[in-house]
Amino acid sequence: MTEEIIALRDVCYQYEDAGKNAVDHVSLSVRRGEMTAVLGRNGSGKSTLVKLINGLILPDSGTVLTDGMDTKDDAHIWDIRQRAGMVFQNPDNQLVATVVREDVAFGLENTGVPSEEMPARIDAALKAVNMLDFAERAPHLLSGGQKQRVAIAGILAMRPDIMLFDEATAMLDPRGRREVFDTVRRLNSEGMTVVWITHFMEEAAECESVHIMHDGAIVLSGTPREVFADRERLRPWRLDVPPMAALAQRLRAAGVALPEGILTIGEMAEEVEALAARL
Ligand code: ADP
Ligand code: MG
Repeated sequence: MTEEIIALRDVCYQYEDAGKNAVDHVSLSVRRGEMTAVLGRNGSGKSTLVKLINGLILPDSGTVLTDGMDTKDDAHIWDIRQRAGMVFQNPDNQLVATVVREDVAFGLENTGVPSEEMPARIDAALKAVNMLDFAERAPHLLSGGQKQRVAIAGILAMRPDIMLFDEATAMLDPRGRREVFDTVRRLNSEGMTVVWITHFMEEAAECESVHIMHDGAIVLSGTPREVFADRERLRPWRLDVPPMAALAQRLRAAGVALPEGILTIGEMAEEVEALAARL
């Protein structure tokens, strides 16, 4: 049986005086080792959802189980925050020290890890995001993608089981975005459970599962192929299919013999290649 590492059951959450739920009767299940994308327009409840998962806020009703622990259980709250690490949109707000290595150490210092254990942990975390060569550099001189990878290392050093990314590539240029996304994909392939909030459909296309949020509710869930099968279906939530899927659809409409289900650049390249071979 596959193990459910994140489980929300009929969860509601309302900010004080908001008048409506920011998260509204949400049920969600994430398997250990899964990489799942969360999509939705601004204000649809994505950030609130991940804050509920790592216990930063507690549900008004329903249950949130993170790594088997109920976030409402006071005894577990620090454990949950450590095991479900968050990476945010703005890398500059997440880096606090003047040297990369110290930045990665920062979170560890608050978790009671023995100081003799710290250097090895920091090195391993920086190595995992391919930033070990930058350990003695000043964070503010790094590119956005590099800064975000340092922020990821800071979380990794705490050895989480789950990583929650709240639009972690939104402020990066295409190259930085790719750098960070590929890093996270690799961590996932090594076993990390990932919740990836994004506005970029091409990133969602590369996740195992996709959830669409609208007005606090999850309105559509499935594999990328299921969720992006039909462009019209996404319109009510003002979302579109990934660029390659849209392009394939246009080319098919113009009579080009491409199969359905193309989502990524890699898949498009393969199909075009196959087409060319038949010419
Ligand atoms: P998203 O991340 O999808 O943009 P959020 O989870 O941030 O959505 O917000 C969901 C809803 O909750 C929105 O209507 C937003 O205005 C409201 N909201 C978010 N944060 C707060 C807050 N701190 N206080 C009051 N309302 C909030
Ligand atoms: Mg948000």
